[in-house]
Amino acid sequence: MKKKVLKFGGTSVGSINRIVHAAKIIKKESELGNKIIVVVSAMAGKTNELISLSKSISNNFNKRELDVLLSTGEQISCALITGALSEIGVKAQSFMNWQIPILTEGENNNARIINMNKTKIDNYLSIGGIAIIPGYQGVSSLGEITTIGRGGSDATAVAVAKIFDTDSCEIYTDVEGVYSTDPNKIPIAKKIDKISYEEMLELSSLGAKVMQSSAVQTAMIYDIPLQVRSTFTDRQGTKIFNKENIDYSKTVTGVAYSKDDAKITLQAVEDKPGIAAEIFEPFGKNQINIDMVIQNVSSDGKTTDITFTIKREDLEKSLEILKKNKKIKFKNLSYKDNVSKISIVGAGMVTTPGVTYRMFRALADEKINILAISTSEIKISVIIHENSTVKAVKKLHNIFNLD
Ligand code: ASP
Ligand code: MG
Repeated sequence: MKKKVLKFGGTSVGSINRIVHAAKIIKKESELGNKIIVVVSAMAGKTNELISLSKSISNNFNKRELDVLLSTGEQISCALITGALSEIGVKAQSFMNWQIPILTEGENNNARIINMNKTKIDNYLSIGGIAIIPGYQGVSSLGEITTIGRGGSDATAVAVAKIFDTDSCEIYTDVEGVYSTDPNKIPIAKKIDKISYEEMLELSSLGAKVMQSSAVQTAMIYDIPLQVRSTFTDRQGTKIFNKENIDYSKTVTGVAYSKDDAKITLQAVEDKPGIAAEIFEPFGKNQINIDMVIQNVSSDGKTTDITFTIKREDLEKSLEILKKNKKIKFKNLSYKDNVSKISIVGAGMVTTPGVTYRMFRALADEKINILAISTSEIKISVIIHENSTVKAVKKLHNIFNLD
């Protein structure tokens, strides 16, 4: 007998039909003899709807009350799914965050789960029941209802898997798993059967959003195997675990891209200690994330060029910050707002020489100019002109045998 967490995302409980369907999946898993804890999201769109209700009262809606409001989304799904299970003869019961309780710390709207009391749920599992619990929320040590950040039901599922020491944590969603690139734009994308936490994090932060990144990080820290799978097909989905468990037959696992980047170059900046810190300090203060940074070797020993990338939406503010910064001197400031970032990701790259060369050669063959490069152990990223994004992704997908 296995103990499992089954987490259903918003689209998987997005309508009554879908809730009934999810209940059938749960029933099947339980008939296989598994002990099951179900974690649910709010019905698709519900959380947004609740947020806009609060906004129609005030853009500064009281944070405590916002959590009271937002936590109801998951409460609705819990009750409906439990009702649907009862209807098909399955013993199930919902447990609200404060009934369990799921203990959180930190501020309203942005709390973290720190523990859960196992007693009630363990008792219920031991008499053959299925426990249905709400994702995305908890209760503070003072008994205040909290939510844990958007997309937080994934984090709840991982926390339940850890605290209840379950055999698996299955994330039911509206896609069949993690893909080798964006299947909506590049139809040749292939579903990945197995992927390491690290690769998954690189691919999701680069646009292949399937699971909340911080939940994947937690799973990585505690070595909790995950499985992302579709609610709407029977297929296996993608298993995410420790890279030691993966046999890398492919050098590259996926090709990710983002199209909303911008690039800034400062020419002839003084080449002395502390200048880079002076340049970037105000960015941190203004909550602007710097992505890639490239500093050229100084040819005259006095000045150097620094190029860096940011999100496009931050471009205007960034230019303003640089122009206002009295602590730095440079000859020229230039920027491009029509660039995109293409990355190849693969834990197999570490042991395979020549990957960088193959990537650059492939882009050159397509006459795609590289504007900036950055590399890490399992990722190589380049900045190119936005118009060539699809061409570049297709080419790299092909030459690294992902088609
Ligand atoms: N319902 C919450 C949200 O939409 C949490 C979740 O679905 O994971 O952000
Ligand atoms: Mg979600």
